[in-house]
Amino acid sequence: MQKKYLLDYEYKDLEKFISGIGLKPFRSRQIVKWVYQKRIESFMRCSDLPIDVREKLDSAFYLRAFKLHSRKKSIIDGTIRYNFLTRDNLHIPAVFLPQKGRNVACISSQAGCPVGCYFCQSGKTTLKRNLSKGEILEQIFQIEKDTGLKIDGVLFMGMGEPLLNYKNVTSAIKSILDHQQLGLGKKHVTISSIGIVPQINKLKEDQTGVRLAVSLHAPDDETRKKIVPEKMSYAVNSIMKAAISYSRTNKMRLTIEYMLISGLNETLLSAQKLVKLIRKHSNHKDNIQINLIPYNPTVNCSYKSPGEDEVEKFRNYLVKNKCLAIVRRAKGLDIGSACGQLGV
Ligand code: SAH
Ligand code: SF4
Repeated sequence: MQKKYLLDYEYKDLEKFISGIGLKPFRSRQIVKWVYQKRIESFMRCSDLPIDVREKLDSAFYLRAFKLHSRKKSIIDGTIRYNFLTRDNLHIPAVFLPQKGRNVACISSQAGCPVGCYFCQSGKTTLKRNLSKGEILEQIFQIEKDTGLKIDGVLFMGMGEPLLNYKNVTSAIKSILDHQQLGLGKKHVTISSIGIVPQINKLKEDQTGVRLAVSLHAPDDETRKKIVPEKMSYAVNSIMKAAISYSRTNKMRLTIEYMLISGLNETLLSAQKLVKLIRKHSNHKDNIQINLIPYNPTVNCSYKSPGEDEVEKFRNYLVKNKCLAIVRRAKGLDIGSACGQLGV
Protein backbone atom coordinates (compact mmCIF):
# COMPACT_ATOMS: atom_id res chain seq x y z
CA MET A 1 0.00 0.00 0.00
CA GLN A 2 1.30 3.44 -0.91
CA LYS A 3 1.81 5.70 2.08
CA LYS A 4 -0.70 8.51 2.53
CA TYR A 5 0.03 12.09 3.65
CA LEU A 6 -1.51 12.22 7.09
CA LEU A 7 -1.88 16.01 7.22
CA ASP A 8 -4.31 15.81 4.30
CA TYR A 9 -6.87 13.95 6.40
CA GLU A 10 -9.67 15.65 8.26
CA TYR A 11 -10.50 14.14 11.64
CA LYS A 12 -13.54 12.16 10.52
CA ASP A 13 -11.71 10.72 7.49
CA LEU A 14 -8.75 9.77 9.64
CA GLU A 15 -11.02 7.84 11.97
CA LYS A 16 -12.47 5.95 9.01
CA PHE A 17 -9.08 5.28 7.47
CA ILE A 18 -7.45 3.92 10.59
CA SER A 19 -10.41 1.61 11.22
CA GLY A 20 -9.75 0.31 7.72
CA ILE A 21 -6.20 -0.65 8.67
CA GLY A 22 -7.34 -2.45 11.81
CA LEU A 23 -6.82 0.27 14.44
CA LYS A 24 -9.45 1.27 16.99
CA PRO A 25 -11.20 4.57 16.09
CA PHE A 26 -10.27 6.09 19.48
CA ARG A 27 -6.63 6.03 18.37
CA SER A 28 -7.39 8.93 16.01
CA ARG A 29 -7.68 11.29 18.99
CA GLN A 30 -4.24 10.25 20.20
CA ILE A 31 -2.79 10.55 16.71
CA VAL A 32 -4.23 14.04 16.25
CA LYS A 33 -2.70 15.16 19.55
CA TRP A 34 0.75 13.94 18.52
CA VAL A 35 0.59 15.17 14.96
CA TYR A 36 -1.08 18.55 15.38
CA GLN A 37 -0.27 19.59 18.94
CA LYS A 38 3.15 18.07 19.42
CA ARG A 39 4.08 18.40 15.73
CA ILE A 40 5.88 15.02 15.63
CA GLU A 41 7.75 14.02 12.49
CA SER A 42 7.99 10.33 13.38
CA PHE A 43 5.39 8.00 14.87
CA MET A 44 8.11 6.42 17.00
CA ARG A 45 7.75 9.41 19.33
CA CYS A 46 4.15 8.54 20.20
CA SER A 47 5.01 7.18 23.64
CA ASP A 48 1.44 6.32 24.65
CA LEU A 49 0.86 4.11 21.60
CA PRO A 50 1.90 0.44 21.58
CA ILE A 51 4.86 -0.28 19.32
CA ASP A 52 2.79 -2.32 16.86
CA VAL A 53 0.37 0.62 16.45
CA ARG A 54 3.29 2.98 15.80
CA GLU A 55 4.64 0.60 13.20
CA LYS A 56 1.27 0.27 11.52
CA LEU A 57 0.95 4.06 11.35
CA ASP A 58 4.47 4.37 10.03
CA SER A 59 3.76 2.01 7.16
CA ALA A 60 0.44 3.73 6.35
CA PHE A 61 1.39 7.41 6.53
CA TYR A 62 4.12 9.93 5.91
CA LEU A 63 4.10 13.09 8.02
CA ARG A 64 6.07 15.63 5.95
CA ALA A 65 5.88 16.37 2.24
CA PHE A 66 8.25 19.34 1.89
CA LYS A 67 11.98 19.70 1.58
CA LEU A 68 13.50 23.00 2.59
CA HIS A 69 15.01 24.30 -0.63
CA SER A 70 16.30 27.67 0.54
CA ARG A 71 16.03 30.09 3.42
CA LYS A 72 16.99 33.76 3.60
CA LYS A 73 16.87 35.94 6.66
CA SER A 74 16.53 39.71 6.42
CA ILE A 75 19.21 41.63 8.28
CA ILE A 76 16.85 44.60 8.37
CA ASP A 77 13.90 43.17 10.29
CA GLY A 78 14.42 39.44 10.94
CA THR A 79 11.88 38.34 8.34
CA ILE A 80 12.71 34.90 6.97
CA ARG A 81 11.78 33.83 3.46
CA TYR A 82 11.49 30.10 2.83
CA ASN A 83 11.30 28.22 -0.38
CA PHE A 84 9.93 24.71 0.02
CA LEU A 85 9.99 21.94 -2.55
CA THR A 86 6.93 19.70 -2.89
CA ARG A 87 7.15 15.97 -3.68
CA ASP A 88 6.42 16.83 -7.32
CA ASN A 89 9.20 19.45 -7.33
CA LEU A 90 7.19 22.65 -7.17
CA HIS A 91 8.58 25.67 -5.36
CA ILE A 92 6.38 27.06 -2.60
CA PRO A 93 7.31 30.31 -0.86
CA ALA A 94 6.37 31.13 2.73
CA VAL A 95 7.50 33.88 5.07
CA PHE A 96 8.09 34.20 8.80
CA LEU A 97 7.23 37.65 10.11
CA PRO A 98 8.34 38.43 13.64
CA GLN A 99 5.82 41.00 14.84
CA LYS A 100 5.28 42.78 18.12
CA GLY A 101 4.49 39.93 20.50
CA ARG A 102 3.41 37.56 17.75
CA ASN A 103 5.07 35.01 15.47
CA VAL A 104 3.29 35.23 12.17
CA ALA A 105 3.48 32.86 9.19
CA CYS A 106 2.55 34.19 5.77
CA ILE A 107 1.68 31.09 3.76
CA SER A 108 0.86 30.09 0.19
CA SER A 109 -2.33 28.44 -0.98
CA GLN A 110 -1.48 27.54 -4.58
CA ALA A 111 1.58 26.74 -6.68
CA GLY A 112 1.43 29.78 -8.97
CA CYS A 113 -1.67 31.95 -9.26
CA PRO A 114 -4.44 31.85 -11.87
CA VAL A 115 -5.40 35.51 -11.41
CA GLY A 116 -2.27 37.03 -12.90
CA CYS A 117 -2.37 40.57 -11.50
CA TYR A 118 0.03 42.71 -13.48
CA PHE A 119 1.82 44.06 -10.40
CA CYS A 120 2.45 40.75 -8.64
CA GLN A 121 5.31 38.31 -8.97
CA SER A 122 3.11 35.35 -7.99
CA GLY A 123 0.76 36.28 -10.79
CA LYS A 124 3.61 35.81 -13.25
CA THR A 125 3.94 32.17 -12.22
CA THR A 126 1.12 30.31 -14.00
CA LEU A 127 -0.99 28.05 -11.83
CA LYS A 128 0.55 24.60 -11.49
CA ARG A 129 -1.92 23.23 -8.98
CA ASN A 130 -3.72 23.86 -5.73
CA LEU A 131 -1.87 23.03 -2.52
CA SER A 132 -3.46 20.28 -0.46
CA LYS A 133 -4.74 20.83 3.07
CA GLY A 134 -1.58 19.18 4.42
CA GLU A 135 0.75 21.26 2.28
CA ILE A 136 -0.93 24.43 3.53
CA LEU A 137 -0.50 23.40 7.17
CA GLU A 138 2.99 22.00 6.75
CA GLN A 139 4.33 25.46 5.91
CA ILE A 140 3.47 26.46 9.48
CA PHE A 141 5.13 23.36 10.96
CA GLN A 142 8.28 23.82 8.87
CA ILE A 143 8.62 27.46 9.93
CA GLU A 144 8.17 26.46 13.57
CA LYS A 145 10.82 23.77 13.24
CA ASP A 146 13.30 26.18 11.70
CA THR A 147 12.72 29.10 14.07
CA GLY A 148 12.04 27.06 17.21
CA LEU A 149 9.05 29.37 17.79
CA LYS A 150 5.37 28.62 17.97
CA ILE A 151 3.38 30.32 15.23
CA ASP A 152 0.41 32.20 16.65
CA GLY A 153 -0.73 34.22 13.65
CA VAL A 154 -1.41 33.06 10.10
CA LEU A 155 -1.82 35.17 6.97
CA PHE A 156 -2.98 33.65 3.70
CA MET A 157 -0.96 36.23 1.80
CA GLY A 158 1.69 34.11 0.13
CA MET A 159 1.48 32.72 -3.36
CA GLY A 160 -1.94 32.05 -4.86
CA GLU A 161 -5.52 33.14 -4.40
CA PRO A 162 -6.84 31.31 -1.32
CA LEU A 163 -10.50 31.59 -2.31
CA LEU A 164 -9.77 29.79 -5.59
CA ASN A 165 -8.56 26.80 -3.54
CA TYR A 166 -11.57 27.03 -1.29
CA LYS A 167 -11.96 23.45 -0.12
CA ASN A 168 -8.37 22.86 0.94
CA VAL A 169 -7.91 26.32 2.43
CA THR A 170 -11.05 26.06 4.57
CA SER A 171 -10.13 22.53 5.59
CA ALA A 172 -6.67 23.78 6.70
CA ILE A 173 -8.36 26.64 8.59
CA LYS A 174 -10.48 24.10 10.49
CA SER A 175 -7.26 22.49 11.75
CA ILE A 176 -5.71 25.88 12.54
CA LEU A 177 -8.70 26.93 14.67
CA ASP A 178 -9.53 23.57 16.30
CA HIS A 179 -8.52 23.47 19.97
CA GLN A 180 -7.50 19.82 19.61
CA GLN A 181 -5.18 20.83 16.75
CA LEU A 182 -3.37 24.16 16.30
CA GLY A 183 -5.88 26.12 18.36
CA LEU A 184 -5.36 29.68 17.07
CA GLY A 185 -7.98 32.37 17.68
CA LYS A 186 -10.10 33.41 14.70
CA LYS A 187 -8.85 36.97 14.76
CA HIS A 188 -5.28 35.76 14.35
CA VAL A 189 -6.01 34.11 11.02
CA THR A 190 -6.47 36.32 7.95
CA ILE A 191 -7.45 35.36 4.44
CA SER A 192 -6.39 37.89 1.86
CA SER A 193 -8.34 37.74 -1.38
CA ILE A 194 -8.26 39.63 -4.64
CA GLY A 195 -12.06 39.72 -4.23
CA ILE A 196 -13.70 36.54 -5.54
CA VAL A 197 -17.24 37.63 -4.66
CA PRO A 198 -19.13 34.28 -4.72
CA GLN A 199 -16.44 32.69 -2.55
CA ILE A 200 -16.50 35.56 -0.04
CA ASN A 201 -20.23 34.94 0.28
CA LYS A 202 -19.64 31.22 0.68
CA LEU A 203 -17.01 31.86 3.35
CA LYS A 204 -19.62 33.88 5.21
CA GLU A 205 -22.30 31.19 4.87
CA ASP A 206 -19.88 28.49 6.00
CA GLN A 207 -19.22 30.50 9.17
CA THR A 208 -15.48 30.14 8.88
CA GLY A 209 -15.20 33.28 10.96
CA VAL A 210 -11.61 34.29 10.25
CA ARG A 211 -10.52 37.81 9.31
CA LEU A 212 -10.87 38.92 5.74
CA ALA A 213 -8.65 41.30 3.82
CA VAL A 214 -9.66 42.31 0.31
CA SER A 215 -7.05 43.48 -2.14
CA LEU A 216 -9.08 46.27 -3.68
CA HIS A 217 -6.21 48.45 -4.93
CA ALA A 218 -8.49 50.71 -6.95
CA PRO A 219 -11.48 52.97 -6.22
CA ASP A 220 -13.27 52.24 -9.52
CA ASP A 221 -13.50 49.55 -12.18
CA GLU A 222 -11.65 51.63 -14.78
CA THR A 223 -8.53 51.82 -12.63
CA ARG A 224 -8.83 48.25 -11.40
CA LYS A 225 -8.80 46.73 -14.84
CA LYS A 226 -5.40 48.30 -15.46
CA ILE A 227 -3.89 46.19 -12.67
CA VAL A 228 -6.11 43.10 -12.25
CA PRO A 229 -6.97 41.17 -15.44
CA GLU A 230 -10.56 42.04 -16.28
CA LYS A 231 -11.75 38.47 -16.73
CA MET A 232 -10.66 37.63 -13.18
CA SER A 233 -11.93 40.80 -11.57
CA TYR A 234 -15.28 41.55 -9.95
CA ALA A 235 -16.74 45.05 -9.85
CA VAL A 236 -15.44 47.16 -6.95
CA ASN A 237 -19.02 47.73 -5.76
CA SER A 238 -19.78 44.03 -5.56
CA ILE A 239 -16.46 43.32 -3.77
CA MET A 240 -17.23 46.02 -1.21
CA LYS A 241 -20.77 44.77 -0.69
CA ALA A 242 -19.65 41.16 -0.12
CA ALA A 243 -16.71 42.14 2.10
CA ILE A 244 -18.76 44.44 4.35
CA SER A 245 -21.47 41.84 4.67
CA TYR A 246 -18.82 39.25 5.65
CA SER A 247 -17.36 41.55 8.26
CA ARG A 248 -20.78 42.41 9.75
CA THR A 249 -21.85 38.78 9.96
CA ASN A 250 -18.62 37.77 11.67
CA LYS A 251 -18.29 40.93 13.75
CA MET A 252 -14.73 41.10 12.52
CA ARG A 253 -12.66 43.96 11.25
CA LEU A 254 -12.45 44.22 7.47
CA THR A 255 -9.11 45.14 5.98
CA ILE A 256 -9.04 46.85 2.62
CA GLU A 257 -5.65 46.53 1.00
CA TYR A 258 -4.83 49.38 -1.29
CA MET A 259 -1.52 49.25 -3.07
CA LEU A 260 -0.26 52.62 -4.20
CA ILE A 261 1.32 52.76 -7.64
CA SER A 262 2.79 56.03 -8.77
CA GLY A 263 0.74 57.77 -11.47
CA LEU A 264 -1.96 55.11 -11.41
CA ASN A 265 -4.08 55.08 -8.26
CA GLU A 266 -2.40 57.43 -5.77
CA THR A 267 -3.87 60.77 -6.88
CA LEU A 268 -6.13 62.96 -4.77
CA LEU A 269 -8.99 62.07 -7.11
CA SER A 270 -8.42 58.35 -6.37
CA ALA A 271 -8.43 59.08 -2.63
CA GLN A 272 -11.70 61.01 -2.98
CA LYS A 273 -13.27 58.17 -4.94
CA LEU A 274 -12.09 55.62 -2.38
CA VAL A 275 -13.65 57.55 0.50
CA LYS A 276 -16.88 57.83 -1.47
CA LEU A 277 -16.90 54.11 -2.23
CA ILE A 278 -16.36 53.19 1.40
CA ARG A 279 -19.05 55.62 2.59
CA LYS A 280 -21.51 54.24 0.08
CA HIS A 281 -21.15 50.71 1.46
CA SER A 282 -20.57 51.21 5.17
CA ASN A 283 -21.70 53.16 8.20
CA HIS A 284 -19.91 54.42 11.31
CA LYS A 285 -20.48 51.10 13.11
CA ASP A 286 -18.44 49.13 10.59
CA ASN A 287 -14.91 48.25 11.57
CA ILE A 288 -12.78 48.92 8.52
CA GLN A 289 -9.05 49.43 8.25
CA ILE A 290 -7.37 50.52 5.06
CA ASN A 291 -3.85 49.20 4.65
CA LEU A 292 -1.91 51.35 2.22
CA ILE A 293 0.87 49.33 0.65
CA PRO A 294 3.44 51.22 -1.39
CA TYR A 295 4.06 49.14 -4.53
CA ASN A 296 7.09 46.88 -4.19
CA PRO A 297 9.11 46.58 -7.37
CA THR A 298 8.84 43.20 -9.11
CA VAL A 299 10.78 41.78 -12.05
CA ASN A 300 9.65 42.80 -15.57
CA CYS A 301 7.17 45.35 -14.35
CA SER A 302 7.36 49.03 -15.20
CA TYR A 303 5.18 50.36 -12.35
CA LYS A 304 6.82 52.87 -10.06
CA SER A 305 6.70 52.96 -6.28
CA PRO A 306 5.20 56.18 -4.89
CA GLY A 307 7.32 58.66 -2.95
CA GLU A 308 6.89 59.13 0.82
CA ASP A 309 5.07 62.40 0.18
CA GLU A 310 2.51 60.85 -2.12
CA VAL A 311 1.82 58.07 0.39
CA GLU A 312 1.41 60.54 3.26
CA LYS A 313 -0.89 62.82 1.22
CA PHE A 314 -3.10 59.88 0.33
CA ARG A 315 -3.24 58.68 3.91
CA ASN A 316 -3.92 62.14 5.28
CA TYR A 317 -6.89 62.56 2.98
CA LEU A 318 -8.38 59.27 4.20
CA VAL A 319 -7.75 60.09 7.84
CA LYS A 320 -9.23 63.57 7.48
CA ASN A 321 -12.32 61.89 6.13
CA LYS A 322 -12.61 59.63 9.15
CA CYS A 323 -11.20 56.47 7.59
CA LEU A 324 -8.78 54.36 9.60
CA ALA A 325 -5.76 54.09 7.33
CA ILE A 326 -2.28 52.82 8.03
CA VAL A 327 0.76 52.50 5.83
CA ARG A 328 2.03 48.94 5.71
CA ARG A 329 5.77 49.13 5.30
CA ALA A 330 7.47 46.38 3.31
CA LYS A 331 9.11 43.59 5.30
CA GLY A 332 12.18 41.69 4.20
CA LEU A 333 12.86 43.94 1.21
CA ASP A 334 16.50 42.82 1.15
CA ILE A 335 15.48 39.17 0.67
CA GLY A 336 12.60 39.63 -1.80
CA SER A 337 9.94 38.59 0.68
CA ALA A 338 7.76 41.67 0.63
CA CYS A 339 4.18 41.54 -0.63
CA GLY A 340 4.03 40.65 -4.27
CA GLN A 341 7.63 39.48 -4.48
CA LEU A 342 6.85 35.84 -3.75
CA GLY A 343 7.04 34.43 -7.26
CA VAL A 344 9.63 31.79 -7.97
N1 SAH B 1 -4.10 36.46 -3.73
C1 SAH B 1 -4.31 37.11 -2.51
C2 SAH B 1 -3.24 36.87 -1.50
C3 SAH B 1 -1.81 36.99 -1.93
S1 SAH B 1 -1.16 38.56 -2.35
C4 SAH B 1 -4.50 38.59 -2.75
O1 SAH B 1 -4.23 39.06 -3.84
O2 SAH B 1 -4.97 39.25 -1.82
C5 SAH B 1 -0.96 39.38 -0.79
C6 SAH B 1 -0.98 40.91 -0.90
O3 SAH B 1 0.17 41.43 -1.58
C7 SAH B 1 -2.18 41.42 -1.68
O4 SAH B 1 -2.77 42.52 -1.10
C8 SAH B 1 -1.52 41.78 -2.99
O5 SAH B 1 -2.33 42.57 -3.74
C9 SAH B 1 -0.24 42.41 -2.51
N2 SAH B 1 0.77 42.60 -3.55
C10 SAH B 1 0.97 41.84 -4.65
N3 SAH B 1 1.98 42.33 -5.40
C11 SAH B 1 2.42 43.44 -4.76
C12 SAH B 1 3.48 44.38 -5.04
N4 SAH B 1 4.26 44.27 -6.10
N5 SAH B 1 3.67 45.38 -4.15
C13 SAH B 1 2.88 45.49 -3.04
N6 SAH B 1 1.90 44.64 -2.75
C14 SAH B 1 1.66 43.61 -3.59
FE1 SF4 C 1 -2.64 36.18 -7.37
FE2 SF4 C 1 -3.00 37.82 -5.27
FE3 SF4 C 1 -0.81 38.04 -6.82
FE4 SF4 C 1 -3.17 38.75 -7.80
S1 SF4 C 1 -2.09 39.71 -6.08
S2 SF4 C 1 -1.64 37.50 -8.86
S3 SF4 C 1 -4.50 37.27 -6.83
S4 SF4 C 1 -1.34 36.31 -5.54
